[in-house]
Amino acid sequence: MEARTPRGFHDVLPDEVRRWQFIEDNARRIFDLYGFSEIRIPVLEFTEIFARSLGTTTDIVEKEMYTFTDRDGSSITLRPEGTAGVVRAFVENSMHAKAPVSKLWYGGMMFRHERPQKGRYRGFYQIGAELLGPEDPASDAELITMVWKFLESTGLSERLTLEISSLGDNNCRPQYKEKLVAYFEPQSEKLCPDCRRRLGTNPLRILDCKEDGCKKTAAGAPKMIDNLCPDCSAHFEAVENYLENAGVPYTINPKIVRGLDYYTRTVFEVTTNELGSQNAIAAGGRYDGLVEELGGPKTPAVGFATGMERLVLLHEKAHPGGFQKEVAVFVAHLGEGARTAAFKLTSALRDRGVSAEMEYGGKSLKSQLKRADKSGARYTFIIGEDELSRGKVKLRRMETSTEEEVDIELAPSLSF
Ligand SMILES: [Zn+2]
Ligand SMILES: [Zn+2]
Repeated sequence: MEARTPRGFHDVLPDEVRRWQFIEDNARRIFDLYGFSEIRIPVLEFTEIFARSLGTTTDIVEKEMYTFTDRDGSSITLRPEGTAGVVRAFVENSMHAKAPVSKLWYGGMMFRHERPQKGRYRGFYQIGAELLGPEDPASDAELITMVWKFLESTGLSERLTLEISSLGDNNCRPQYKEKLVAYFEPQSEKLCPDCRRRLGTNPLRILDCKEDGCKKTAAGAPKMIDNLCPDCSAHFEAVENYLENAGVPYTINPKIVRGLDYYTRTVFEVTTNELGSQNAIAAGGRYDGLVEELGGPKTPAVGFATGMERLVLLHEKAHPGGFQKEVAVFVAHLGEGARTAAFKLTSALRDRGVSAEMEYGGKSLKSQLKRADKSGARYTFIIGEDELSRGKVKLRRMETSTEEEVDIELAPSLSF
């Protein structure tokens, strides 16, 4: 057999994981400041949960989901995103009855059967958050501010652009869709076959199409942002006002469509121009109808998700190096009796909170020092049987290669 992952899946090796953890730690810290609690949900749900949430005419549901029939005949899907599962958990656990506002964040692996490329995998990690309960535009702005502060905390905000827009609601979007159809219909021969079909199913998606003909035709299309009803318009203005007051830099991009049906009103994207075509780093928006769609009471909500692989890729570019594991102290030993003393000293160091490593086999001093050097240790203890018989051990400062003798009993309590 050949030991390899399926196409589109990847391992995150220990040296890389430290960078991931740095980003995740920042997420945890910032989300905590904003009052969010972590929720852990299964990696799979009944297929219907995603079909109802994301919309049956979206790319994800139409062609990207990992769906299989379970042994009892039910249709199961590996989660292609996190929001649907969080909302399912919110409804199933009647969280609306426990508190008027639920602030939840999650992290984990998502699955989409797409064409893999740099920064895009079939199995990929996302961190996201959902704020359920308020309809107040302050909650949109709070979530967007949190996303921005999180990205800022990782040292990336200078490479990122925040764009916002509004997709309207059930009150103004249907009229806008009619306007769109009226605009595209007379020139439908310029559209790709997918978009010609979308004209009848989901005309908004035409604005999102990457085909040249569709892009050109869409350039002159009416914009949702110019067709908002008074309520949606006031909501959007208030979000802008809050963001300005929070000092969050943003621009308005009326072309943001988002690929999912559940969004209403505010939508936003954080992009970079440093990763080629995979430019979206984080995205989200308001989804006031989704909780009801999944059988819960009317609960407005707003959320976002960020793709970890792209974030890590950008972070590597911006801040190369600096994430290798390092130990403070290495313990080398020569001779059988010294090995037991080395084991004891290494344990004692760890008991005192000092990260320590010892040599395993009976290697030469030269090769032990080589390993000590590679481990990044600043100090190496060298235990020889001769010194040991006098209750002593050598302490080598790696940077200067200078050595001194210290009492083995005192060795663990030195400061490193
Ligand atoms: Zn198209
Ligand atoms: Zn509206």
